[in-house]
Amino acid sequence: MSRPIALVTGASAGIGDAFARLLAARAYNLVVVARDTARLDALAKELREQHRTETEVIGADLSDAAQLASVEARFAADPAIDLLINNAGFGSHGHFHELDRDAESRMVALNVNALVRLTHAALGPMVARERGGVLNVASLAAFQPSAGMATYAATKSFVLSFTQSVHEEVRGTKVKVSCLCPGFTRTEFQQRANVEAEKMPGFVWQSAEEVAAVGLAGLEKNKAVVLPGALNKLTAGVVGVMPTTMTRKVASALSRNYI
Ligand code: NAP
Repeated sequence: MSRPIALVTGASAGIGDAFARLLAARAYNLVVVARDTARLDALAKELREQHRTETEVIGADLSDAAQLASVEARFAADPAIDLLINNAGFGSHGHFHELDRDAESRMVALNVNALVRLTHAALGPMVARERGGVLNVASLAAFQPSAGMATYAATKSFVLSFTQSVHEEVRGTKVKVSCLCPGFTRTEFQQRANVEAEKMPGFVWQSAEEVAAVGLAGLEKNKAVVLPGALNKLTAGVVGVMPTTMTRKVASALSRNYI
């Protein structure tokens, strides 16, 4: 039997790197996508030595339409992709009107547009083959408006809503679709987003490995929404029953005082 193939976006760092390592250990071959091909090549070499994983490296800026199209095309080619993990994403921190307009726009292009187009490219062939899985990475920020991360929270709310809708649409096709909503996870995310989160207490943090493992387990069970860790489950549950007028104020206070 040939190995199944997983395509992981944003595999050059953080949670994406952890997904790639976990999947390689589970005898998947990989297609890894990010802009930093030197890091992807190093990962591919390591996984070949450790697990005999065959890894295709695709260097692409997924916020660029033409480069994104080259990744979309991979889903129409052989061998088929069995699992798509839409993980690449970034955030920003500050008052929206003071942030760089082009960067905010690129965030929407990556966190929303690339995820939608890759999900579409993957799902058609998967539904036709009656197998496969798509795991979209949102965030705990998806559950409420978050002053200080306005665009980021909105992109992740989109991912959460979109993924749950698609999950329902493909129910009964044997294709699994799940949305992973991590909380604070130790990766390069905070530094890239200009977020100083050191003041957040230690117990809120999870490792990338922990989050990726919970994500894969949730997809395996075809859960619509996967929340890694008891604290994140509790937070999402509490936010779900609080009025938005209150949750947006709490999120705003957290952003002012801790980030
Ligand atoms: P990270 O360590 O900064 O990794 C982000 C990955 O995305 C990198 O591999 C990066 O690779 C890739 N990427 C960024 N821009 C890209 C672009 N334009 N085109 C292609 N790839 C791009 O962050 P992370 O925490 O692992 O983030 C993974 C996902 O988890 C994101 O969707 C993030 O929103 C979500 N998340 C993170 C946290 C957290 O606390 N860390 C919490 C909730 C949700 P290159 O730079 O090589 O392109």
